[in-house]
Amino acid sequence: MSECIFCRIVKGEIPSRKVYEDDDMLAFHDINPVAPVHFMIIPKKHVDSLAHVTGEHVPVLGKMLAKAGALAREQGSPEGFRTIVNTGRIGRQDVYHLHIHVIGGTQPLPRMIAKE
Ligand code: AMP
Ligand code: ZN
Repeated sequence: MSECIFCRIVKGEIPSRKVYEDDDMLAFHDINPVAPVHFMIIPKKHVDSLAHVTGEHVPVLGKMLAKAGALAREQGSPEGFRTIVNTGRIGRQDVYHLHIHVIGGTQPLPRMIAKE
């Protein structure tokens, strides 16, 4: 999976603006933020998407979700935030390495998905 852009970020082959790192996960700012706070939390071990998650991923997914609130507060989103996991073609996933978008700031975000 060496071609995977997020695996390359994990390895340090591509630079990122790091928010948090431990043995199992990495959080870094989105290169194209859609709000004042926009970072992603990823597992260091590659998995394509939420649709590919199995029981073996449960511990790391739990850790990622458990960390989201503290990181959002640290990054300037004190009163809540939105988490998005785009999955597959229907979910308009662009990067096929599972990631949780954490999006926020000090002002309320637009409501959910606009009807087309
Ligand atoms: P998704 O559509 O959910 O797969 O989102 C992929 C996200 O990755 C987009 O919001 C991109 O802006 C972001 N992204 C792509 N390449 C990089 C990169 N090198 N560093 C940080 N964020 C990136
Ligand atoms: Zn990967």
